[in-house]
Amino acid sequence: MSTFRYARLAPVLILTVALGTASAQTHVTAPPNKYKPADDVKLGQEAAAQVQKELPMLNDGSVDEYVAGIGQRLVRVIPAEYQHQEFRYTFRVVNQKEINAFALPGGPMFLNRGMIEAARDEGEIAGVMAHELSHVLLRHGTAQATKGEKFQIGAIAGQVLGAIVGGTAGSIIANGSNLGLSTYFMKFSREYESQADILGVQLMARAGYNPQSMANMFKTLAAQGSSGPEFLSDHPNPGNREQRIQQEAKMLNATNNPYGNTAEFQRVQGRLKGMSPALTAKQIEQQSQRGGNAPIGTGGRAVNVDPPSGSLRTYQPNNAMRVSVPANWSPVESGGSSVTYAPQGAYFQGNNGGSAFTHGVEVGVAQGTGNLQNDTNSLLRSFAQSNPQLQQSGNARNENVGGRSGITVQLANVSEVTGQPEYISLSTTELRNGGLLYVIGVAPRNEAGTYDTAFRKVRQNIQISDR
Ligand SMILES: [Zn+2]
Repeated sequence: MSTFRYARLAPVLILTVALGTASAQTHVTAPPNKYKPADDVKLGQEAAAQVQKELPMLNDGSVDEYVAGIGQRLVRVIPAEYQHQEFRYTFRVVNQKEINAFALPGGPMFLNRGMIEAARDEGEIAGVMAHELSHVLLRHGTAQATKGEKFQIGAIAGQVLGAIVGGTAGSIIANGSNLGLSTYFMKFSREYESQADILGVQLMARAGYNPQSMANMFKTLAAQGSSGPEFLSDHPNPGNREQRIQQEAKMLNATNNPYGNTAEFQRVQGRLKGMSPALTAKQIEQQSQRGGNAPIGTGGRAVNVDPPSGSLRTYQPNNAMRVSVPANWSPVESGGSSVTYAPQGAYFQGNNGGSAFTHGVEVGVAQGTGNLQNDTNSLLRSFAQSNPQLQQSGNARNENVGGRSGITVQLANVSEVTGQPEYISLSTTELRNGGLLYVIGVAPRNEAGTYDTAFRKVRQNIQISDR
């Protein structure tokens, strides 16, 4: 809703600004760049994927939507000269305390929660975002790489970042250590900083914000002292920053623009106050080392799990079925159409929204056509898409599932948690409504014998009551 509140007003403002100030604004020229805009996009997306794996996203729909709404207001008024049709602008909030924000080439932008909490009005958030967006539009990342020589685009994310860090004097994305957490940033020259300030002011003015808010935000940041200057060290003051911003704002006749303290801003800050505190960079790093909230998919993690208990415990995930699993397993995740049961220590949630389990079963319903064999094959193909190393390791055999005729097939995979081979058993049967009921058991390959017994008990004891 916030996205559309000012939609009717915006075109009028654009027109006014364009007519009134066509000659009275500083023209910003993007620096020389030997890369194609598509290179910016590729580089930025690879880096963004890495960022989302390593930093905790806030994942709050309401806050994300609010920030994206501000971003879209700025994006809508980008002058034609700075538009790149390949670019895609996305806005995510990182659940991190330090006051910072950064944007990656081609459009992905990340704002720390601490930045939103420190802002005194919406204009201050917009000021930071307009500044970041301007770096993206002027393609400062690849422009900076143009000055260096060893920069290469096209490898996988880690190597791209590595090449940038190791290869250029003014690195695009510098980091503490090993793609370090929380320290992704673009460190730019004062000349680029000045450009981002000026174009940022122009974007703010066109979007109806008072550019003075950008100067205010820089003041707020400076006042944070030693706890908050991360953004400032990434975006060094090109000299007389506030005066220059004010001067440009006056040229644009934008000093009386209305946006500032909106009700939405208050609501979002209140919402953030009600949450448990944002993580510090140090906490994020510690969590990652402990493996607690670290991204999955990197392998190499040790997992210690008690063997399946001999007795069963029955759950009723929905009206249509009862599932009995070893008594020391419990439901760890339930999506719309599936539920996962696992022993303690076997379930991992990445901070990018993904999850994985090393021991246990997932019981779910997939769409079917009424043909058990075909439906099982389609299901296998869809599992293979999210598990690229999944392979069939034995022949499919007919075996009852919940008292109905079914298929069981054994598979081999490599665990994304441990990096070790894992054993998977998939069993399927048809539901009366045409759906496909599946039970997928997962265990390390060297524990397959023990767990296969447990998986068989689960599939044989399922009670289905569809009609
Ligand atoms: Zn900057």
